[in-house]
Amino acid sequence: MTIATVGVVGLGNMGLGMAATLARKGFTVLGYDLSPVRRPAAEAAGVTTLNTLNEVLQAADALVFSLPLARDVEAVVTAEGGLLSRTDRKVVVVDTSTSDPGTTRRLAERLAAAGHALLDAPVSGGPSGAAEGTLTMMVGGAEADYALARPVLEAMSARAPHVGPSGAGNIVKLVNNLLVAAHLVTTGEALRLSEAAGLSADEAVKVVNTATGRSAISEVMVPRWVQSGTFDSGFSAGLMRKDVRLALELAAECGIDLPLSAEVKRIWQATQDAIPDTADFTRMADYRDPKGAH
Ligand code: NAD
Repeated sequence: MTIATVGVVGLGNMGLGMAATLARKGFTVLGYDLSPVRRPAAEAAGVTTLNTLNEVLQAADALVFSLPLARDVEAVVTAEGGLLSRTDRKVVVVDTSTSDPGTTRRLAERLAAAGHALLDAPVSGGPSGAAEGTLTMMVGGAEADYALARPVLEAMSARAPHVGPSGAGNIVKLVNNLLVAAHLVTTGEALRLSEAAGLSADEAVKVVNTATGRSAISEVMVPRWVQSGTFDSGFSAGLMRKDVRLALELAAECGIDLPLSAEVKRIWQATQDAIPDTADFTRMADYRDPKGAH
């Protein structure tokens, strides 16, 4: 089954770039966002934005979702008169939202019963990776559906490995982001120590990045968004808090205790006033701002 028309639902920081990339790579792209303010930028990028969700759900050959929460994905999948009632062809949904594996599996079963498919395909690489088509995607779902969605996955990503059955993509994404959340806290604290002890953080970061304490946070995020003072990575602290919460909920479901991760979650919650949900998540590593201290 060829995929010529892709519907993108959610045209935010990530979805807009993905839609633009798909249009640039030759797909006809239909877009929908709850918020009409997202439409002009999408239209300027070659995306045809439609007035209702169901117009997109009914017309696309494949769908890409980029939505904040699992409940938003559920609302879109189960929209009355939408995908569940569509019978003209099999539609594969590539859900790039960071969501919880349980909801993903439940929705994948409902879509399969209606003749469609859901792949959980959360992403890493930020708005720039979405706009450039260089995301890392981690895909869960049936092998045959992964093969069906391949042209769309390849257009949006530098790599998109199939990591396992439904929910596996979300599991590995939550594992990744739990590490990111922890590294932001520890990197901010370690650099604050350096400054307090009399060595500038700039000097410390340079050395750490050639030594064993380095991470994507110290190598990429601190220079690009913290030391520069721009704090404009395009990923909000609220979405990071969601990911930490989902990771700890998954740990509880599995019956395992993660004491350091629980403390990381507590720190992200406790800094809600100093680093509001709308702030950039890299504020957590701002070693110069005492408000960020926890
Ligand atoms: P965002 O808040 O910028 O965009 C989400 C968009 O979805 C908004 O424009 C919102 O109006 C729209 N929306 C919400 N509910 C909707 C609905 N029912 N129907 C249609 N549109 C709806 O968020 P984002 O930063 O683009 O993140 C999207 C997803 O990608 C999240 O799950 C996030 O955790 C994940 N993610 C983000 C980044 C990043 O760097 N921003 C990186 C990796 C993964």
